[in-house]
Amino acid sequence: MNLRIPGPTPVPSSVLQAMTKPMVNHRGEEFANLIVSVTERLKYFFQTSNDIFIFPSSGTGGMEAAVVNTLSPGDKALVVSIGSFGDRFATIAQRFGAEVAKLDFEWGKDADPAAIAAKLDEDPSIKAVLVTHNETSTGVTNDLEAIARVVRPHKAILVVDSISAIGALELKVDEWGCDVVVTGSQKSWMIPPGLSFVSVSPKGWEAYAQAKMPRYYWDFGSAKKYLDKKQNPYTPAVSLYYALDEALRLMMEETREGVLARHKRLGSYFRNGVRELGLSILAEERCASNTVTAIPMPNGIHPKELRRILREEFDIIVAGGQGKLEDKIFRVGHVGYVTKEDLDDVLNALRVVLPRLGFQTKA
Ligand SMILES: *Cc1c(COP(=O)(O)O)cnc(C)c1O
Repeated sequence: MNLRIPGPTPVPSSVLQAMTKPMVNHRGEEFANLIVSVTERLKYFFQTSNDIFIFPSSGTGGMEAAVVNTLSPGDKALVVSIGSFGDRFATIAQRFGAEVAKLDFEWGKDADPAAIAAKLDEDPSIKAVLVTHNETSTGVTNDLEAIARVVRPHKAILVVDSISAIGALELKVDEWGCDVVVTGSQKSWMIPPGLSFVSVSPKGWEAYAQAKMPRYYWDFGSAKKYLDKKQNPYTPAVSLYYALDEALRLMMEETREGVLARHKRLGSYFRNGVRELGLSILAEERCASNTVTAIPMPNGIHPKELRRILREEFDIIVAGGQGKLEDKIFRVGHVGYVTKEDLDDVLNALRVVLPRLGFQTKA
């Protein structure tokens, strides 16, 4: 099967194999060494010396942790949304009682850093800016470096959902000044769903010290206290740590630069292939994502029909649209464990299927 959705992504067989190892004492020396070793390597990929915590949850749990550890009910949060995951961040903050000011951009476009700067200048009481690094629902990557540059001089912390980006797309957490950065195991990290990784800067810890939203399982303070003892506060997902250990070994072998370059190369290769077929890309090339491509449906073809044929006849699984783009686009993931051949397979299948559905491909 060619699983071409933007997560869960395919898992290398050595990573699957690693998960079959027997359990160990999660408060023993062997697991302590494992915690230190995976955390250090995550810091290398995050390009940070900030704390990094590993939580047993999918990405959304990490987003919730980011919110409840940095804000109090009634605090103002500016949520920058360019699609469905940006909207989710706003919903989480609202549920916990933050006063959310939303800055929405058209789906398919990236966020304008100047507009964020203007909001922050207008209202200095804003405590946090919540932003999506790579909007998986539209295949758009925000210029996070530029966004971080406008946020940095302000009191507000910058909280980043980089769930479908970091580990595949460049994010220099320290150099750019991102205070809380969240990612999930099933996107770029080549392991199954179930872990989220969250980094916290010194400015993030200052926000933590003031934050009064209720939290228990996700408390950064407990995570830190136990990490200092090379432990987790609660029983960790031991098998997923085995997977992470092996996946990080593979990533280190390819090198950080190698991993980032491969995603860049494959993203651009895939988009060119799509355009050569005569299809368009939802995102402008300038901000097109190198982990997922959103393609508007041509000629009134329904994405469900296209996806069904790809699945049944070619064993290729692509994603549909989300929210208001549900019937309008299909999406192809190229993140994590992916090669040029995986993408050629998709392009070749589209070349066969689209004409059958009434769209004459160019190439
Ligand atoms: C996948 C994803 C999430 C979180 O989804 P989970 O299903 O909870 O892992 C959040 N934001 C973005 C941008 C994502 O791609």
